[in-house]
Amino acid sequence: MLALQGNYAVHLALLETLGCAACPVRQHAELRACRALIIPGGESSVMGALLQRSGLLAPLERAVRRGLPIFGVCAGAILLAQRIQHSDQPRLGTMDIEVARNAYGRQIESHLSTVRLDPAFIKQLNASRRHSTPILSDVPGLFIRAPRICAWGEAVHPLAYIDSEPVAAQQEAMLMTAFHPEMTDITLFHAYFCDTIAHDKRLDSVDFFD
Ligand code: GLN
Repeated sequence: MLALQGNYAVHLALLETLGCAACPVRQHAELRACRALIIPGGESSVMGALLQRSGLLAPLERAVRRGLPIFGVCAGAILLAQRIQHSDQPRLGTMDIEVARNAYGRQIESHLSTVRLDPAFIKQLNASRRHSTPILSDVPGLFIRAPRICAWGEAVHPLAYIDSEPVAAQQEAMLMTAFHPEMTDITLFHAYFCDTIAHDKRLDSVDFFD
């Protein structure tokens, strides 16, 4: 769990309820021990600057390009984006999406919206042993100065929508949500990340860090 800034403590608590081993990451040695990483919501420009200043940005970007599973939430998703409208802020830039920051409104316009899960994603979730009660199509999504996904490449699979706009997506081992599942006790994205994306046996032999 990247813990330089933002909402990391809530994610750590959620991961504990799921029984997923996680620890805060602030330094090189902690990063090098990672087999998967979550970047929390917060302020992407600040987090990007802190990543750069601490020297973590380049090794993390390299690791993600080698397949390190990564889950970016809100500001975390912005840091994953290849293109950020009207901004050249530091980022990983590994995911083929273009985002517009704060496009769902200002802080005081934070809101809960109904997020519709993609049917294929629901099927996959319901096939996993974790969920004893079936996952249905609608979940609440909390949007706090959230980014809008304006464009995405062919390798990016939308997992959830508002109307026809994707608000959660996956590209290989990269997962993102524009909203904050950790704030509404929606555990399915974290469970999917830990159980499925980060559990890929093909990654066992990969050396993410030199
Ligand atoms: N608007 C913030 C940013 O651009 C993200 C807000 C959030 O993470 N809740 O970084």
